[in-house]
Amino acid sequence: MSFQVRNKVVIVTGGSSGIGLALVKLFLAEGARVAWCGRDDKKLQATFDLLSKDYDSSQMFIHQCDVLKKEQVANYVALVVKKFGAIDMLVNNAGQGKVADFFATEEQDWIDELQLKVFSVVNMIHAALPYLKQSDIASITNVNSLLGLKPETHMVATSVARAGLLNLSKNLANELVKENIRVNSILIGLVESGQWRRRFEARSDKTKDWVGWTAGVANKKQIPMGRLGKPEEAAYALMFLASPLSSYTTGSVIDVSGGLSKEI
Ligand code: NDP
Repeated sequence: MSFQVRNKVVIVTGGSSGIGLALVKLFLAEGARVAWCGRDDKKLQATFDLLSKDYDSSQMFIHQCDVLKKEQVANYVALVVKKFGAIDMLVNNAGQGKVADFFATEEQDWIDELQLKVFSVVNMIHAALPYLKQSDIASITNVNSLLGLKPETHMVATSVARAGLLNLSKNLANELVKENIRVNSILIGLVESGQWRRRFEARSDKTKDWVGWTAGVANKKQIPMGRLGKPEEAAYALMFLASPLSSYTTGSVIDVSGGLSKEI
């Protein structure tokens, strides 16, 4: 069975690391034409060079773009269309979380978190919508977090912002269904990626290696599967929701949390 995305065009924001990079690889392996972005040009180029060894580089497009800067997003989308002539699928993945409880969260942190989780999606959708409307398989897929349903006190602003994105995703699904554009999300728990690598580098107990440290995190969080997820495991769910394999699915969420969400 194929994902039916051969030569279709997908944008993956934040494709230079972690979940985004795993998804870029999956789409390339399925023969899609893939555009990805990030803020750091060097990281982008490194992923392009690496992937060029295994995949056709004419199917690949990178350009630096901060998804919070409206002008950069508009320019980026125009460049993607210039290169590939269309946009069929948009995966809003770029971002990171803010670890801070209510008392450690400053006013600017609130503004930054809400801006990141909402405008990273709003800006991209505004720019890509005219092209998505012309696609016969159009989809928007948002990477979201279980925190949107299951808030945690040590990530208060991120939890609130994630709940907002969950609401926005449903709202957009309701609105865009008349344009034949599907909108879905994944809710992730803890996935091994750049964010966790950075926290690992900053760990207090330097005697612990990556495997021991992540097992400790999984244990502390009481993840039923006893481990963090792999970026590919989040990417598989994203691929399903973005592709025509989920053609009768909109406004839905897939939980990719290793059983962390125990509620119905
Ligand atoms: P990574 O740090 O590995 O990757 C994040 C990617 O987003 C990078 O390519 C980064 O590139 C890019 N990025 C970040 N900010 C921007 C921006 N403003 N504009 C453009 N690109 C940006 O993290 P993950 O793979 O873990 O994260 C992917 C998504 O999953 C994020 O939205 C994250 O919040 C979410 N998530 C992850 C969880 C986890 O456990 N890993 C848990 C819950 C949610 P650059 O720095 O060069 O811009």
